[in-house]
Amino acid sequence: MHKLKLIGPFAQAVTMDNLPVKGPLSDDRLEIIDHAGILVNGEMIEAIGAFRELKSLTPKIEPVEGDFVVLPGMIDVHTHLCWSGSRAKDYAMRLSGSSYLEIARQGGGIWSTVTKTREVGMEELAGLTALHANRLLHQGTTTVEVKSGYGLNADSERKILNAIRKANEITKNDLIPTCLAAHIKPKDFEGSAREYLNYLIQDLLPGIKAEKLSHRVDIYVDEGAFNIQDALYYLNAAKALGFDVVVHADQFKPGGAQLAVEVGALSADHLEASSDEDIALLARSKVIPVALPGASLGLGAGFAPARKLLNTGAPLVIASDWNPGSAPMGNLLMQAAILGIYEKLTMAETLAAITCRAASALRLTDRGVLKPGMLADFIAFPCGDYREILYNQGGMGPEIIWKRGRLVTGKR
Ligand SMILES: [Zn+2]
Repeated sequence: MHKLKLIGPFAQAVTMDNLPVKGPLSDDRLEIIDHAGILVNGEMIEAIGAFRELKSLTPKIEPVEGDFVVLPGMIDVHTHLCWSGSRAKDYAMRLSGSSYLEIARQGGGIWSTVTKTREVGMEELAGLTALHANRLLHQGTTTVEVKSGYGLNADSERKILNAIRKANEITKNDLIPTCLAAHIKPKDFEGSAREYLNYLIQDLLPGIKAEKLSHRVDIYVDEGAFNIQDALYYLNAAKALGFDVVVHADQFKPGGAQLAVEVGALSADHLEASSDEDIALLARSKVIPVALPGASLGLGAGFAPARKLLNTGAPLVIASDWNPGSAPMGNLLMQAAILGIYEKLTMAETLAAITCRAASALRLTDRGVLKPGMLADFIAFPCGDYREILYNQGGMGPEIIWKRGRLVTGKR
């Protein structure tokens, strides 16, 4: 029993337990424990309840001074944070009215990130990735999905996935890698989009599977990226190899959500351009819709129809899409709070979208909820009422963060 320690007391613990995976959530569905304590056994939660009652179970107490509300650590299910180089110049051009094509013609756009990411070695890239992941950890995100996709040939994509693996050893954050070699067809590939995908199926995916570099495959389906037929072909091949598949769907043009349902994707991410039929289709399926407000904010574009998705009975997950081009902010809490006020999401819906419901989009069953048997990943905000958190719209981050039962310290 010596491994046990009791952390608290917290003014409130919002456990996110016992919430349905799909559909609307009113705030009164939230389980809130007043004057709470969390009993931690190594990396896991042993018990959660009234601090005063849990005190009898262990002499070891890690005290929390002052009023704090504790929540599960946030889970960001969609990022591209393994990159090198800045796209600040692109952003300035976008603010001045330049189009995507004009920016690309001036040497910007995704290809500039591909060029810079190809140039750096694996170790250096791992260091950059760990820096990005640490920034998120200090913001309260304790699990992060990270996509490749700035390599766009077999060697560079493998280097990126190895860098993500290495970064996962450096940072205390948990990184979940996804292969997005089908981000765009690279400029320097001679052949059609289908031929590029065939090259990935033959020369990249089997090795990634064998080396366990990732068990997830993503594709960007849209104008300027891959079309529906090619994506269907590619994702079916990835599924046959045993990968979970996810789709960048309906960011500018519809079609991707239907594809996600047809192929049985784990999630369909973006959905800014989804129609009412797409929403109904998603709600009837097992596909988890992921809204990416960071991309809307980065492009000055509209948000995904989050309210409609929930009202139609779909789940809703919110992720940051952190990338150097279209979503440079990376702050999940702030973005979720902003989407919440524009889409009129209840606080329960917004909080679920970045904790318990997010866990399901990564097929993770050991986090996103504060209850016994879960990882001891939790974050404490300096307030006495959980509603202060989203009310501050991301301006008040968590002040204390525990990852796998340990306090996160060091530079923010
Ligand atoms: Zn993305």
